[in-house]
Amino acid sequence: MLRAPYQSAPQTSGSRPDNRFGGLTFARLCPRRDFLLHSEPTRVSFTFYTPNMTLIDPARAPSIAVVGGGIAGMSAACALVDQGARVLVFDKGRGPGGRTSTRRRDDLRFDHGAQYFTARDERFERAVARWVDAGVASPWRGRIGQVTNPGVIEEKPSARVRYVGVPGMNAVVRHLASSLGSRGEVRFGVRVTAAVLVEGRWLLKGDRNADLGTFDALIVALPAPQAAVVLNDAPGLFEQALAIPMLPCWSVMASFDRRLPVESDGIFVNMESGTGDAQLSWVARDSSKPQRPPGEAWVLHGSPGWSEANIERDPREVAEALLVAFFRAVGISAETPSTLDAHRWRFANAEPRTSEGCLFDRQRLLAACGDWANGGRVEGAYLSGVQAAECMISEMLRRAQEQPTSSRPWPR
Ligand SMILES: Cc1cc2nc3c(=O)[nH]c(=O)nc-3n(C[C@H](O)[C@H](O)[C@H](O)COP(=O)(O)OP(=O)(O)OC[C@H]3O[C@@H](n4cnc5c(N)ncnc54)[C@H](O)[C@@H]3O)c2cc1C
Repeated sequence: MLRAPYQSAPQTSGSRPDNRFGGLTFARLCPRRDFLLHSEPTRVSFTFYTPNMTLIDPARAPSIAVVGGGIAGMSAACALVDQGARVLVFDKGRGPGGRTSTRRRDDLRFDHGAQYFTARDERFERAVARWVDAGVASPWRGRIGQVTNPGVIEEKPSARVRYVGVPGMNAVVRHLASSLGSRGEVRFGVRVTAAVLVEGRWLLKGDRNADLGTFDALIVALPAPQAAVVLNDAPGLFEQALAIPMLPCWSVMASFDRRLPVESDGIFVNMESGTGDAQLSWVARDSSKPQRPPGEAWVLHGSPGWSEANIERDPREVAEALLVAFFRAVGISAETPSTLDAHRWRFANAEPRTSEGCLFDRQRLLAACGDWANGGRVEGAYLSGVQAAECMISEMLRRAQEQPTSSRPWPR
């Protein structure tokens, strides 16, 4: 059975039948039903749109800004350029990845954000298969364990394949960015500070009030608290984004001169809270992932509670504290690392996670997407971006079809 493009993710089921909210409509209700039934194994199920898009003068294709070039922003951007839109992506980071970033230290690489991704939804499965074909993702066959008592590691088998970007987690977003083609562009190192609606178009502002351009439509693909800042001119979406808290995570990157005597390559750490052992949530031998440089590289993630309580601490102190916790959790004696760094993620994961897909304001041609809007994780972020693009395109087409052919230039 063909599924509606954005109804199928198991984690998005069970939401309310009608999410109309003060003039805003949650995205899964936006496109007309007939748009939803055209599912095919391409980037997005857009076969329906193609005949309509040919009516549009390419020189007058809509310009759409995407703020945030993580997996959600980039999946939205790819879906939009596929349909003929001109897309400009702004990202404040120096390079691609967002929370799927990879950090280099000497000859080593560390995935200090997302560790791996799994695919539950068939649309995301297809995307992952394409990334594997393109050589930017690969299954990670590391041995996975779990610790609930210090020093006791139990096997934690899973039937689900864990994928990683190769040669680093950021390879997937880099690949999406490079596949935008001539209609898309990504500008790194540009922070968007405000989006203002001026005569029906979106004017973006950057640092020092820089004018970043004016666009027909806007997709904001940032962690919810950061999205709220940019959405200041759209009260309904602003309030919804503001209501979604996100949890922090301290991430420590440590390398060693020799292999540590730990058999597992990835370990969930689930110590009882209140015991003083609940500092960590996950540790992984990053160097066990495919196509990583040789060496012994580990990533240690602080638990949400510990990370929150220690969020303003000095990174060096945090790195040392979590390293001690790591040795205790896996039951080995302390070793001096060759390199030790820490990264503070202020907005690592959404809690509680919403599962609406994305937020869409059809009057203002504004969407907000990201993992926080769609069940969390890399998969949720990817599908949320696709959904935001689908909402935007379908609304633009609806407007175009309402106009007489002679005056049809898109989108108004
Ligand atoms: C430590 C950690 C571990 C994780 N582990 C996993 C895991 O194992 N598996 C999994 O599936 N998921 C994991 N996740 C979650 C996963 O990384 C996210 O769900 C996903 O990457 C979110 O993608 P996104 O595009 O929604 O947001 P992001 O990746 O955060 O992208 C947002 C982008 O916006 C940019 N930006 C922010 N503000 C501005 C601004 N004002 N102007 C311009 N650009 C801006 C940022 O630079 C960033 O690139 C983890 C996350 C963290 C932090």
